[in-house]
Amino acid sequence: MTARSPRRWSLPLWAWLVATHLTVLALPALALLGTGAVNRDLERQTRRAMQHQAELIARWSAAELVRARVDDPSQSLEVVADALEPALRDVARADAGARIVDTRGLVVATSGPRMGADLGGNLEVSEALQGRIGADVRVLPVAPGITRSRLFVAVPVTVGGDVVGAVVVTRNPRDAVQLARNVMTRLTGGALVAIVTTLTVVAFATTALTRSLSSLVRATRSLADGGPAAALPDLQGAPVREVRELAGAFEATSQRLRERLAYIGEFAAHVSHEFKTPLSTLRGTVELLSDDADMPADQRAAFLANAEGEIDRLDRLVSGLLALARAEQAPTDQRVDVAELAADVAAAYPGVTHEGPAKLEVRGNAAQIDAIVRNLVENALKHGKAQQVVVRTSARDDAVVIEVSDDGVGISPGNLSRVFDRFFTTDRSGGGTGLGLALVRTISRMHGGDTEVRSEPGRTVFTVTLRR
Ligand code: ADP
Repeated sequence: MTARSPRRWSLPLWAWLVATHLTVLALPALALLGTGAVNRDLERQTRRAMQHQAELIARWSAAELVRARVDDPSQSLEVVADALEPALRDVARADAGARIVDTRGLVVATSGPRMGADLGGNLEVSEALQGRIGADVRVLPVAPGITRSRLFVAVPVTVGGDVVGAVVVTRNPRDAVQLARNVMTRLTGGALVAIVTTLTVVAFATTALTRSLSSLVRATRSLADGGPAAALPDLQGAPVREVRELAGAFEATSQRLRERLAYIGEFAAHVSHEFKTPLSTLRGTVELLSDDADMPADQRAAFLANAEGEIDRLDRLVSGLLALARAEQAPTDQRVDVAELAADVAAAYPGVTHEGPAKLEVRGNAAQIDAIVRNLVENALKHGKAQQVVVRTSARDDAVVIEVSDDGVGISPGNLSRVFDRFFTTDRSGGGTGLGLALVRTISRMHGGDTEVRSEPGRTVFTVTLRR
């Protein structure tokens, strides 16, 4: 798997918010562009239909002129105007109209008003009078403050190749087009309001978010610098749920860290205390031996034997601490047959028996599970002075249980709650380090279980669970 390289750039929160909001704002504008395309399409369709109508009327007009045998068709369109009226009326609707103009651009026939009006100045009319199809869109006032766009299409009327007038068809663009035009105008005005509102909202959101995140950053920095645990009062009421959750997670982490630091401090104090006694005994022995060169041989031998005992103790302490440190790492993922392992340990000690099924598997570290059984059996024999020790292995739904029971002296109620404490031992003179049961509990916990004890004179039972 290739590691993904970290992103090189980053933006402040406000920039992200502004960018996202403006993107959302831009969507209606995109939609409007789409509407514009539809609008143009509709306009094109309408114009084509109008052109078609105008061409029909133009042809009819030309035919009428020919039929009327007028001498100069270019002067005489009004002669046939009456005959053309039904065709013009056909076009006339509330939103459409048709007119015929002569070569000067004067209206000679119309489906509505403006008879005789001069349309020669209109773009489409002058185009048509020059023999081309003309078209235009003009915005006209229909009432005070209300305008409407109107389409004009003009087609020349030709007789024998000469332009004798023009047919002008006019129509309001379809409602959709009008609507799009209106919406467009209103939206353009509204866009400004929307942008200002958006920026205000972003400013509020950024302030709320940035303030809480900044105090989280400050608290984290203070923790990293080893400063006092910063409280995050303003984050309990942070308006963003994730920020609250982050603040909660931060509190939990810093609490955990404080506990861990306290644990390390306490642990270091315990360790130094345990090491201090043997070390000062050794220092005293060395000083005595070097100061008194004439010390009798038997006394010297006694001092040396004592020193050796202290060195052994230091050695056991170091081994015990190392085992504890190793146990605190995640156990390996071996298949361990606990039944077989317990039977093997039991067989190695006289008076110790194993009970339980022939096979019981868990996933974990075989050497560490072996250390559990060995420690418990040795404690029963050594501290309990037991005659009978039984190692019972069994299975529960989700765990394997190792129970080590003995018929020894038992543990006093006062000591029962302390036996799992590191360095707690009632057998310091006999070489006890007080690390055995701490190790047993740590290993079982690292294997997803725990260790419990019950004791009364004549019966002590240690129960270890290991998750399957
Ligand atoms: P250590 O064996 O070095 O003393 P442990 O942590 O193994 O350290 O045991 C702590 C103490 O618990 C022992 O010193 C002893 O007092 C008590 N203890 C443990 N197991 C038994 C037992 N089976 N019977 C009686 N006392 C026990």
